[in-house]
Amino acid sequence: MLGRGLLKRCAVCGSGKLFTRWFRMKERCPRCGYRFEREEGFFLGAYVINLAVAQGMVILLAVVPLIVRLADDPDASILPFVVGGLVGAVVAPIVFYPWSKTVWTAFDLILRPLAAREPTDRT
Ligand SMILES: [Zn+2]
Repeated sequence: MLGRGLLKRCAVCGSGKLFTRWFRMKERCPRCGYRFEREEGFFLGAYVINLAVAQGMVILLAVVPLIVRLADDPDASILPFVVGGLVGAVVAPIVFYPWSKTVWTAFDLILRPLAAREPTDRT
């Protein structure tokens, strides 16, 4: 199920094409009709995932290289690492945005499986 989320697919049926634009997810799965936003504020979890990815990218692109570089040369310029940090903080959340939603949808379904009464149809 999480694999489907990582592939930007519906966690329930595996269908693709869940986005009309990069930042615009369809309300329901075009194949199975699963409503992605299960409750108000549902995608707050996607925001948290996206924030964690961005922070991870900042650590990978700026913090760790800066520590390694300054260990070798304490007078080295920090500008390349600041740029790397900005890329991680600004570009990564934009690029990862759709995956954050599909991964969160899958993660939520793992934690809270569909109830028998929960509508997955198009009603
Ligand atoms: Zn589906």
